[in-house]
Amino acid sequence: MSWKRIALLGPPGAGKGTQAKLLAEKTGLVHLSTGDILREEVARSTALGKAAKGWMDKGDLVPDDLIVDMIRGRITGADGFILDGFPRTVVQAEALAKITPLDGAINVVLSQEEVIHRLSSRRVCQDCGKIYNLLFDPPKVDMRCDACGSPLFLRSDDNPDVIKNRYNVYTQETAPLIEYYSKQGLLYEVDGKKPSRDVLDRILNLITG
Ligand code: AMP
Repeated sequence: MSWKRIALLGPPGAGKGTQAKLLAEKTGLVHLSTGDILREEVARSTALGKAAKGWMDKGDLVPDDLIVDMIRGRITGADGFILDGFPRTVVQAEALAKITPLDGAINVVLSQEEVIHRLSSRRVCQDCGKIYNLLFDPPKVDMRCDACGSPLFLRSDDNPDVIKNRYNVYTQETAPLIEYYSKQGLLYEVDGKKPSRDVLDRILNLITG
């Protein structure tokens, strides 16, 4: 039987967002990205957005309790989901386990060099959120989204200093989840350096059994 409750793990820039969007289209599962939800809260200047912005701009993690409160209802309200960017700490993983079990955690593996290289050339559509890479997945028209024509932008946390911090935060706070899920027999790995199409096929193979 196909998996319905999936978490994508991996460093920033590994392709979690791209894969989660493609998977959601293919499977009908709900794509839940804590980063996207937070960016929307920031754009709307909500209390949560105002609180989260300082941590996000530095590349630090937003406190666990805020994140868990933000995502809980979306998880319980979905009939199956792809988590992208959550959980990011063992505390979040333990909170998630109390909300619902996972069918699998898929680690998209990418080296630090590749992360830095990719993030500095990543651009995102300001309207529909589609993700591009100027080096290996550029838009057809310069700096315009293929899907909706809106301008592309460089995320404010995709600058060299913040990228470095985000990678360190990943190593310290998020990488321990690999062991956490491995011990539970829930961890699966995919090579994030492969072309996006191949990564998608590999994940689809995993989740459809
Ligand atoms: P992302 O788009 O997943 O790279 O997330 C962008 C930023 O949002 C991160 O650098 C964090 O500041 C914050 N963030 C996203 N998800 C989480 C999470 N699960 N826990 C804590 N902070 C998060």
